[in-house]
Amino acid sequence: MRPRVSTLFTAASLGLSVGVGVLWFRSYPVGDYFGCHPARVRGLVLEHESCGFATWRGSITTGVDATRIRALDQKQLNEWTVVRSDPAARLLPTPGLNLKWEPRSNATELNLGNPVTVWNRLGFWMLHQQMKPDFGFQNSNWIIRFPFWFPFALTLILPSARLALWLRSRRRRRRGLCPVCGYDLRASPARCPECGKAAPVPPPA
Ligand SMILES: [Zn+2]
Repeated sequence: MRPRVSTLFTAASLGLSVGVGVLWFRSYPVGDYFGCHPARVRGLVLEHESCGFATWRGSITTGVDATRIRALDQKQLNEWTVVRSDPAARLLPTPGLNLKWEPRSNATELNLGNPVTVWNRLGFWMLHQQMKPDFGFQNSNWIIRFPFWFPFALTLILPSARLALWLRSRRRRRRGLCPVCGYDLRASPARCPECGKAAPVPPPA
């Protein structure tokens, strides 16, 4: 039998919740950073975006950052962008996609300030900062933080609804009712007269 689309979605959702759960537990001893830092050069301007998410102690911080920085001359631009043997010696990402994954066991938590709302107390934050263009430097960024239980709960909605439906239809079948609509099938065990569902052969009692 071909699996129904809803079954595939439920399975995908369940798989996601397992993945989120693993990262959640892992976030206490080890934080993970996944990011992408595309950068390109236009004339003497280095354009650099970064987007990614970092896990730490039960929460996920995700952000988008866009920076445009103008070099004084080609020499300075080379200082920023030329690939060196030691990537840490580079000031800024080299042009390219710059994908990154880093496990961090001693991540310092990005301090987003004191909680001021109920949402903050629950672990939700949203910050937007924008630096006015000045001295050839522009920057704007968004930072969003949310607790792991939030995506975990979202990914469990579909599987738990599916489980509830399955339990209901099993309960109905055991009581001799139509598993689909709950109509009493004791008088017509082969097919439900209410919704037309063909009943499976009941297990021998
Ligand atoms: Zn029925």
